[in-house]
Amino acid sequence: MNITERQRARFWNKVRPGSDSGCWMIDVCRTSQNQPTISFNKKHFLASRVMFSLTKGAIPNGLFVMHTCDNGACVNPSHLWLGTQKDNIQDCVRKYRRWNSKLIREQILEIRRLGKSGVSSHLLAKQFNITHQYASRIVRNIQPEYVK
Ligand SMILES: [Zn+2]
Repeated sequence: MNITERQRARFWNKVRPGSDSGCWMIDVCRTSQNQPTISFNKKHFLASRVMFSLTKGAIPNGLFVMHTCDNGACVNPSHLWLGTQKDNIQDCVRKYRRWNSKLIREQILEIRRLGKSGVSSHLLAKQFNITHQYASRIVRNIQPEYVK
């Protein structure tokens, strides 16, 4: 990934660093998987990959940038590590299990409660780090099906 000085400045401009240990957000568009992307020369790059390259060096072919914090939207370099396709799949499976856990179920009920009390889906999306479409589906009881 060749990034010019200007592109680098544009990238850092959009980063909203939190504390050293907390998750960092970035003000860019997101993929349908809620992963922030930035475009350089009309090509889209995952922000986590850009951040990794800028702060830790080139990413070897075939490796994925993964998150220790399970927050796909986070770009804090200290939360990023390199994994293989296998790590990536295991990570997804683990997240999926977590998503099904009680804690997450409570979050879903909380989202629903807040949404019904008038909190906008955009605000819920920000707070729970999900897309506003998804927040709205949760509030309207459409998703996820297993939490009714
Ligand atoms: Zn993080």
